[in-house]
Amino acid sequence: MEMKQIGIVGAGISGLVACKYMLSKGYDPIVFEARSRVGGVWIKNFETTTLQTTKPLYQFSDFPSQSSVTEDFPTQHQVFDHIQSYAQHFDLLKHIRFNTKVVGIEYDQVLSDEELWSWSSTAMASPLAMINGNGRFPLKTL
Ligand SMILES: Cc1cc2nc3c(=O)[nH]c(=O)nc-3n(C[C@H](O)[C@H](O)[C@H](O)COP(=O)(O)OP(=O)(O)OC[C@H]3O[C@@H](n4cnc5c(N)ncnc54)[C@H](O)[C@@H]3O)c2cc1C
Repeated sequence: MEMKQIGIVGAGISGLVACKYMLSKGYDPIVFEARSRVGGVWIKNFETTTLQTTKPLYQFSDFPSQSSVTEDFPTQHQVFDHIQSYAQHFDLLKHIRFNTKVVGIEYDQVLSDEELWSWSSTAMASPLAMINGNGRFPLKTL
């Protein structure tokens, strides 16, 4: 059976989690990332930036922070490392098209409400995730 392709915009935390989830459901995700790395806001920030959320509350439930990170409020570098390790651990990098900015999305086929809702629930509520099921969502990228 042909695997359905899913387009995801952005390889920050949201996009990576969406990508892993879609793989676990048997879809073929493509993550379009404008920048050259994963991590989103954690790629680069003020040098002194740390989490405001404590470490136990800001880590992937299926990929806990390394035990070497002992700070209650990890630094931006530690958060970035954690996100990058997550992408590597679950082999997500090969699904990401780096340096590819999405500049437009169109919907050009009408679905019934029932079909649309079934896809919406599959694709979760994230505004960064979009679906390409029976309808077509042609992407424009740079
Ligand atoms: C300084 C700072 C501190 C923070 N501290 C906390 C905290 O302590 N606790 C907490 O819960 N949250 C915190 N946050 C919030 C943080 O934004 C989220 O926790 C989370 O990292 C957001 O991830 P995201 O993937 O949703 O978005 P982002 O990290 O913004 O990732 C979006 C990605 O999409 C890409 N992208 C955007 N548009 C396009 C396009 N058109 N085409 C292709 N790619 C595109 C971007 O390049 C980026 O890589 C903090 C944010 C900042 C800036």
